[in-house]
Amino acid sequence: MSNQTNSSIGDTLPQTRVGLFIDGEWIYDRPSCFEVLNPSNEQALYAVPGATAKDLERALAAAQKGFEIWRNTPPVERNVIITRAIALVRERAEMIARTITLENGKLIADARAEVERSASFFDWDMAQALRAYGTIVPGEAGMQKLILRQPIGPVAGFTPWNVPLSAPSRKISGALCSGCSIILKAAEETPSAAVAMVQCFEEAGLPKGVLNLVFGNPAEVSTTLIASPVTRMVTLTGSVAVGKHLTQLAGQAMKPVLMELGGHAAVIVCEGVNAAAIGRMALKSKIRINAQWCAAPGRFLIHESVYEAFVSAYVDAALEVRVLDGMDASADLGPVSSGRRLAAMQHLVDDAVSRGGKVAVGGARVGSRGYFFAPTLLTDIPLDAAIMTDEPFGPVAAAVPFKTLDEALRIANSLPVGLAAFAFTNTLEEAERLSRDLDLGVLSINHFGAPDPDTPFGGVRDSGMGREGGPWSLDAYMVSKTVLQKTARV
Ligand code: NAD
Repeated sequence: MSNQTNSSIGDTLPQTRVGLFIDGEWIYDRPSCFEVLNPSNEQALYAVPGATAKDLERALAAAQKGFEIWRNTPPVERNVIITRAIALVRERAEMIARTITLENGKLIADARAEVERSASFFDWDMAQALRAYGTIVPGEAGMQKLILRQPIGPVAGFTPWNVPLSAPSRKISGALCSGCSIILKAAEETPSAAVAMVQCFEEAGLPKGVLNLVFGNPAEVSTTLIASPVTRMVTLTGSVAVGKHLTQLAGQAMKPVLMELGGHAAVIVCEGVNAAAIGRMALKSKIRINAQWCAAPGRFLIHESVYEAFVSAYVDAALEVRVLDGMDASADLGPVSSGRRLAAMQHLVDDAVSRGGKVAVGGARVGSRGYFFAPTLLTDIPLDAAIMTDEPFGPVAAAVPFKTLDEALRIANSLPVGLAAFAFTNTLEEAERLSRDLDLGVLSINHFGAPDPDTPFGGVRDSGMGREGGPWSLDAYMVSKTVLQKTARV
């Protein structure tokens, strides 16, 4: 494991200036609500202007006005503008990727992949929008029974720092492709990618008010936007705690939500597989996006017959990991996002050790500058250790041996969250049982991939409600209206 931060690589400032975008106008001269840091060297980058109460009122009025225009724009014309904007995003991919790495710390290769993935959500949703058909129900003569599908109205979207472009893209794409307007509150920690995307839409000719971007005090912004009668739907990608809070606010105002929240993915490795190969793959998958992706594996449940082989391969692979500034092309793992997340990693390790657990590899901060933490595997831990119950959202994981599939399923399903899991098996019987009995939204069998835009992503129970992507990707942004129309003259 090596660590050397090269601050000259990470210091390139983005070609975007962070501002609020309300009713087609950029606003910069507001008091700062957050100081953005480069997590690779802890250097302050710039201040984020915070929206005032008046700004939020203006954004709401703009979103209402924008909605009236956009909902009446034919889907084909909407797609022309969105296509233009997304072409600009792709043209600026390198600049946007560097911005993401600078503010979030993820590897530049992961940031580039995030830009392309973000663009692909729009490709998918634009095609869906052209086929967002309603239904004609068979009726008696003189009566037409129509089920119209209409855009639900202005959306309030809230997005996190771990995927600064792809989470905003999911929300903007769902809203705009459905004919809705949106006010997006992107993460203050990583504002520039959303700013860059909004600039692309502005240059592409999106009518004013259709897309608004704000930053500020998160609690104040969410309370104001959700309570307003203008807002018709609320969507968040973020933590379970914030998700429950925003869902309560939305419930009080009787508004539907789309919640994509955290998880704590189990990886079930069954008897008879090549556990050494899976152990190496598991480490690579764990540290993707600096181990800060919501479906990242955290609980490795390994059949006792292959447990040693898995653990030893994972440890060997972890020892080869180069922990570096994400701008460095040779880095395998960058920093976690903040000092708070670094402390959370150390807490998971200390808690395990205090309960008799062992640190098979890693277990500590790397270096003294930047929020780097070594890829860590904890073993011999009780099932109520913090690493088994709290989503790590960083490069710490645990391995636990099991004897029977029943036992593995019981552990995997034992948490209130149910987002994603991975399983490795060579029997159809086990694969079918896992597919049926794992209580979650997404299961990958015999690989560590996650859904592309063509398949739904989202969780059950505390991991949220609703789905992003897939054949029903616009459903959360649309509402049905039944029209019973007599054709006789009155
Ligand atoms: P956190 O919940 O403290 O903050 C996450 C984000 O939520 C921040 O950007 C913050 O601005 C925003 N937020 C906080 N209160 C809000 C409010 N009232 N209204 C609107 N937005 C609000 O989490 P953290 O400590 O920064 O990150 C760690 C935890 O967050 C992890 O355990 C993980 O589950 C979760 N998380 C999940 C995702 C995801 O992709 N599902 C992304 C980021 C964080």
